[in-house]
Amino acid sequence: METLVVDHPLVAHKLTTLRDVNTDSPTFRRLADELVTLLAYEATRDVRVTEVTVQSPVAEAHGVRLATPKPLVVPILRAGLGMLDGMTRLLPTAEVGFLGMIRNEETLQAETYATRLPDDLSGRQCYVLDPMLATGGTLAAAIHFLFDRGAVDVTALCLLAAPEGLAFMDKEFANSGKPIRVVTAALDERLNENGYIVPGLGDAGDRLYGVV
Ligand code: URA
Repeated sequence: METLVVDHPLVAHKLTTLRDVNTDSPTFRRLADELVTLLAYEATRDVRVTEVTVQSPVAEAHGVRLATPKPLVVPILRAGLGMLDGMTRLLPTAEVGFLGMIRNEETLQAETYATRLPDDLSGRQCYVLDPMLATGGTLAAAIHFLFDRGAVDVTALCLLAAPEGLAFMDKEFANSGKPIRVVTAALDERLNENGYIVPGLGDAGDRLYGVV
């Protein structure tokens, strides 16, 4: 698995305001949206393209277009929805599938409670949106789900990651033989006893949409 921590002053600036407990939900949503667009620029560095030739007003020009099948963007409900517009702004022709995942409090395993995805993902590049890579359980389950349906590679965009989550993902996919990338704005210190990222930004879903 490859991890990229995006090192850019604008990313750090927006992330700092996201972390601030005094940032209200409307500001948090706007900044998360802008931050995802910056992450998306790096996350799509390996997006597949095909070569094309177009006619400019002056001469023939050789270039590229996004290949088919189109990339699939998959926000994990609910907090991943706060990252969707920021991603599709850069990849407007991508298709979007939805995955709802929740942790079963008895088995402590992530379980899927809602899906709206093509059954066959053969040949697809997938971009999973999950703001907080904490223990890694939910993200790993989502990636297994996509590979089981035939996805060729998966890139996860996370606002923040914890070392414990990255270590879990590394182990989980050590023998998968498929390319996996995690692109994040920062690698934080650790998880606390409640599974929150430290220093983190709190509960991403609550900060985006309020406590329900
Ligand atoms: N999920 C969150 O929303 N925040 C954390 O810090 C960890 C998991």
